[in-house]
Amino acid sequence: MNEVQTVVVGAGVIGIAVARKLARQGHEVLILEAEQRIAQHTSSRNSQVIHAGIYYEPGSWRAKLCVKGKKMLYDYCVDRHVPFENTQKLIVAIEENHLRKIPLLIKNAKANGVNDLTQISAAEAIAFEPALACKGAVLSPSTGIIDAPAFISSLLGEAEAEGVFVALGSPLERVVFLDSGFELSCGDAHGTVLKCKNFINAAGLGAWNVARSIEGFPFIKIPQQHFAKGSWFSMTGPAPFERLIYPVPDDESLGVHYTCDLGGGFRFGPNLQYIDPPRVDYSMDADQANDFEHSVRRWW
Ligand SMILES: Cc1cc2nc3c(=O)[nH]c(=O)nc-3n(C[C@H](O)[C@H](O)[C@H](O)COP(=O)(O)OP(=O)(O)OC[C@H]3O[C@@H](n4cnc5c(N)ncnc54)[C@H](O)[C@@H]3O)c2cc1C
Repeated sequence: MNEVQTVVVGAGVIGIAVARKLARQGHEVLILEAEQRIAQHTSSRNSQVIHAGIYYEPGSWRAKLCVKGKKMLYDYCVDRHVPFENTQKLIVAIEENHLRKIPLLIKNAKANGVNDLTQISAAEAIAFEPALACKGAVLSPSTGIIDAPAFISSLLGEAEAEGVFVALGSPLERVVFLDSGFELSCGDAHGTVLKCKNFINAAGLGAWNVARSIEGFPFIKIPQQHFAKGSWFSMTGPAPFERLIYPVPDDESLGVHYTCDLGGGFRFGPNLQYIDPPRVDYSMDADQANDFEHSVRRWW
């Protein structure tokens, strides 16, 4: 039976970053990836925004890692020539009563160590972005965008240079605890079975199934799955804004927002739609266009 020191399941941005870090610490690392190419799921279906760390609960890991990660990400992009732009972002109050939420956002951001937000008037916001309609706004100077595929390629190149090997088309199907590690069975063409000492589950939307496939692992310790999906609509024509534009968030989501990419394209979204029973569903309902337009026209 093949043996490897450390197996990472999933070649999304997280699995690749973890593999790179472990390889740099001297681990022999194999990544098992179910698809025929890396990063085919959430890592290539997101807004590509470098978030400032405004909204997360102070003291939470999300808040700490977002703020620390933002600086690391900007530094990494400069060092490795990964395309990025510090676009900034405006969070806009569409109605008078949204203005009340702005000091709370600024307070939350400060508690997370994000001290550069400023509240600005409607006139100041419109001076920045003439196509905007709002009652006031918050300027986030440290928000930006990144070329996510270039970032992931860079991480992968560095991981491979440290000896990481990615086995594509290798879905992990079963994990058995051994005295000295794990036995992993793959659903690849050869029905590969291998042993490892360390096993890391970075399977994204597949993480729950991977956890379930560990024989004897207590089901009670696996959090329930709640799948939600977001859709975007892109537009052609000249970009209407220079900065990213987000409405003041509601309790559930950041709201349909405006993001641009480094190729000059722009889009609106994502919305939030819960999928029950949980399943990966990338289908797009074009009938949502009217709702998107209604949502966006409140501030554009
Ligand atoms: C709508 C949306 C917008 C977002 N926007 C942003 C943003 O602007 N900025 C930001 O920082 N973050 C954003 N995110 C979050 C970010 O995209 C994710 O946190 C990140 O991509 C997660 O990466 P991952 O590697 O954990 O998962 P994934 O990219 O899903 O990778 C998991 C990998 O595991 C593989 N896999 C699954 N099961 C198995 C198995 N059994 N065996 C082997 N391989 C398996 C999959 O094929 C996949 O390649 C957004 C997320 C969403 C949903």
